[in-house]
Amino acid sequence: MKTAIVTGGCRGIGLAATEIFLEQGWRVAMVDRDTRELHRVADGMENVLAVEADVSDPDQVERMVAETVAGLGRIDALVNNAGVALFSHAGRTSFEEWREVMATNLDGVFLCTQATAPELAKTGGAIVNIASISGLRASTLRVAYGTSKAAVIHLTKQFAAELGEQGIRVNCVAPGPVRTKLAMAVHAPEIISAYYDAIPLNRYGEAREIAEAIVFLCSDKASFVSGQTLAVDGGFDATGVGLP
Ligand code: NAD
Repeated sequence: MKTAIVTGGCRGIGLAATEIFLEQGWRVAMVDRDTRELHRVADGMENVLAVEADVSDPDQVERMVAETVAGLGRIDALVNNAGVALFSHAGRTSFEEWREVMATNLDGVFLCTQATAPELAKTGGAIVNIASISGLRASTLRVAYGTSKAAVIHLTKQFAAELGEQGIRVNCVAPGPVRTKLAMAVHAPEIISAYYDAIPLNRYGEAREIAEAIVFLCSDKASFVSGQTLAVDGGFDATGVGLP
């Protein structure tokens, strides 16, 4: 039975990816730092192992890998999905806020990939990083968030180059807006309506629409795809229109 680690797995896009993995016969290590929500969601689910960890902490990430291998036996895929959002003008973003965004969105991807790679090398596994259209286009308010996601897109290429010889594929999904807790905390009403105008399909995405692309890139159907970023964004990136 194949096994995936999904970080930030107990809600939003990570939970949708978990549900699709389970439907396709995988087992999932659901990783989150929100321990109460993690156990509320995971404890009733079959073939799910709840793993408490903050992806920005190297020791907790090492334990995440150890607990997954002890509990599920192998790792075939890592989905680096845990993320935090901050919409704030560059001049008003404190260094602490900048570091907090980088710690989860960028350091977390680096740490989880490095710690999991030896296990993925044993199974010929795959990694999918979750960036954002904010990492493809610059705009106001996203100095920390957008920069962290642009770095994740480049980190995807770096790790694809480094880990390919071990048979590990590394790809990235750049979602457009989805109505999750993360997005609704930072999307003011005027941003929401501007997104509708900027997106050719004229709507927000559903978490499951992002998750389908994630699971595809982890699967054998994508066996010769590596180093790529797939925008799942209703056509936004194709238009060249700026972010709201
Ligand atoms: P969400 O807030 O619904 O879920 C994120 C989960 O990550 C939460 O359960 C949270 O507790 C967990 N998490 C945060 N920091 C963590 C840490 N340091 N260690 C462990 N767990 C941590 O968010 P979502 O919208 O589902 O976002 C998932 C990913 O998709 C994020 O990387 C986000 O940046 C990206 N994304 C979301 C949107 C959107 O519109 N929702 C758009 C583009 C990209």
